[in-house]
Amino acid sequence: DRQKFIRNFSIIAHIDHGKSTLADRILEMTSSVEKRKMKEQLLDSMDLERERGITIKLNAVQLTYKAKDNQEYILHLIDTPGHVDFTYEVSRSLAACEGAVLVVDAAQGIQAQTLANVYLALDNNLEIIPVLNKIDLPSAEPEKVRREIEEVIGIDASNAVKASGKSGLGVDEILERIIKDVKAPDGDENAPLQALIFDSFFDAYRGVVPTIRVINGSIKKGDMIEFMATKAKFEVVEVGVYTPTQKVVDVLGPGDVGYLTAAIKTLNEVRVGDTITHATKRAEKPLPGYRTLNPVVFCGLYPIDPDQYQDLKDALEKLKLNDASLIYEPETSQALGFGFRTGFLGLLHMDIIQERISREFNIELIATAPSVVYHVYMTNGEKILVDNPTFLPDIQKIDYINEPVVKATIMCPKDYVGSVMDICQKKRGIFIDMKYMDQTRVLLTYRLPLAEIVYDFFDKLKSSTKGYASFDYVLDGYMASDLRKMDILLNGEVVDALSVIVHKEFAYQRGKAIVEKLKTLIPRQMFEIPVQAALGGKIIARETIKAMRKDVLAKCYGGDISRKKKLLEKQKEGKKRMKTFGRVDIPQSAFMAILSNS
Ligand code: GDP
Ligand code: MG
Repeated sequence: DRQKFIRNFSIIAHIDHGKSTLADRILEMTSSVEKRKMKEQLLDSMDLERERGITIKLNAVQLTYKAKDNQEYILHLIDTPGHVDFTYEVSRSLAACEGAVLVVDAAQGIQAQTLANVYLALDNNLEIIPVLNKIDLPSAEPEKVRREIEEVIGIDASNAVKASGKSGLGVDEILERIIKDVKAPDGDENAPLQALIFDSFFDAYRGVVPTIRVINGSIKKGDMIEFMATKAKFEVVEVGVYTPTQKVVDVLGPGDVGYLTAAIKTLNEVRVGDTITHATKRAEKPLPGYRTLNPVVFCGLYPIDPDQYQDLKDALEKLKLNDASLIYEPETSQALGFGFRTGFLGLLHMDIIQERISREFNIELIATAPSVVYHVYMTNGEKILVDNPTFLPDIQKIDYINEPVVKATIMCPKDYVGSVMDICQKKRGIFIDMKYMDQTRVLLTYRLPLAEIVYDFFDKLKSSTKGYASFDYVLDGYMASDLRKMDILLNGEVVDALSVIVHKEFAYQRGKAIVEKLKTLIPRQMFEIPVQAALGGKIIARETIKAMRKDVLAKCYGGDISRKKKLLEKQKEGKKRMKTFGRVDIPQSAFMAILSNS
């Protein structure tokens, strides 16, 4: 029967280890894509993904492969996003597979996300096929990396495939190994339907299109289905597979991976990880592992041009249709006017959304410094969630504050262990473990407040290890901390959008760094402006922006006309990314300054 000849697999790797390149070679070898349609890294379809070389959304492609045993197999290549912000999506897409191709750059060896991803694959009981990639590089050390895989991950790598995504070497061997080592999907065609949603996107004409893996039962056009977590019911309009373009099929059965359409209007009803069953013949239980995703990082987004408020609202609405994890609600700031408090899965997610708003919707934004979600326990027994520092209640009314914590794994050459530990310590980290991967590389594990990671952890780590450290984290509960709201005052007035929540012990140092930075970033005005940091109403740091000297202006006049024009242009440019508060112009860079103390 057909099921015996299906293989579902994923490719997992640390960023830049060659996952997308290898996927391209596999697509070519299985002649799924005509040569002329073959663009590089076909799976990374969004412009931004291609530019940044990262995979944001998942994809599932059906391939047909005639193996050496002369039998034709159906392979589903399920792509996963490689970044920490999308761990849950990675885990769900791995749950749709029986095997994973583990790609490790033979010159770089195992990195933090190699480990994170391989653990997710092992959690999902996947067969792992190790591949030593980029062996065409002169610096490749496949034997060393093979040992590393065995010692650090603890899986047999004696027959790891040596490959080069660049030249195509070893790709046929990878395909043969998938056929031989990855088991065919089990699952009962006659059981009630259980299909896992592991991705979805929005199509303007057909509504939400979930990508699904059928585990038990089968699904076809006309079926009444139910989403078990959200209880939403729909009639199936179409089922199909990605080849990689959509191709309609009659039915999807156990082991099949494809999509369905059902005139679903809002993404909220379709959640990654949810189980689809038949409304009339319901499965007893949903598939395991579903959870709702809560955003962990929030910031305020404001249009620089107040007339673009409605455009920004439309843009967020459109983006949300493609990205259910994005949340937002209206917010007003005295300094910035009307905008939106927006929640993200992590910093990269935040970055991507901001960039898409300015790029795809042509809206210039001012973004406030990101904040985590604090659990504030009040003396009156109430508990409130605070994702905007402005709204932290008066300290007298607070019993204690819990902040989110992550478990971070950092991998670095042993020469940098000292400086990495130093950074973690300064970031209020709690040491958990240190392990030598081989003679030269070390794996450190720390518990760290998420707020410190959001702040400037990544930059610090990169600069102090010359980029040699790799880093990954998972959320790991909450801890009570001595946190305070710090306000920034310009010209004696609190700028609400610049308020931050800081640990009490770091307040002075952070406050000083911020006002010093603001002094250099806020343009001089005709009058003197004090810049102050205040903790609970008490000023803890102060700088002064001196008034503009008159002759600076005088110089602009009388000069040759083109120079004058240039100056005016430059002024206009500068104005564009500024907001006027009181009588003071605040550029976007001032808001970013809150994020770095260097
Ligand atoms: P991903 O982030 O894992 O998807 O990695 P990519 O497939 O985007 O590859 C990252 C970089 O490594 C790109 O510049 C590729 O051209 C390069 N690359 C990928 N595979 C190989 C290989 O086998 N040999 C060499 N020399 N370079 C490769
Ligand atoms: Mg990629």
